[in-house]
Amino acid sequence: MRQYDEAVLEFLMCPLCRAPLVFLDKGKLQCTKCGHVYSVNGDGIIDMLSNSLVSSRDKQWMKWYDENAGQYYRLFQE
Ligand SMILES: [Zn+2]
Repeated sequence: MRQYDEAVLEFLMCPLCRAPLVFLDKGKLQCTKCGHVYSVNGDGIIDMLSNSLVSSRDKQWMKWYDENAGQYYRLFQE
């Protein structure tokens, strides 16, 4: 897992309440106001898309995209 420098926190804020974030152990970030915890995946990507912000319609679209995106990428490759 990629480790982030503390300096990255200067550029990030909680998407739910806009408060600053702090690092927890095991590659997670936590909001200093609402306490929401954001995970960092194995590729070092911070997941800041809270499930509470995603509508069921958006989840259907995201599922469709995950299943079909590879076909579109092949169209643009030569
Ligand atoms: Zn927050």
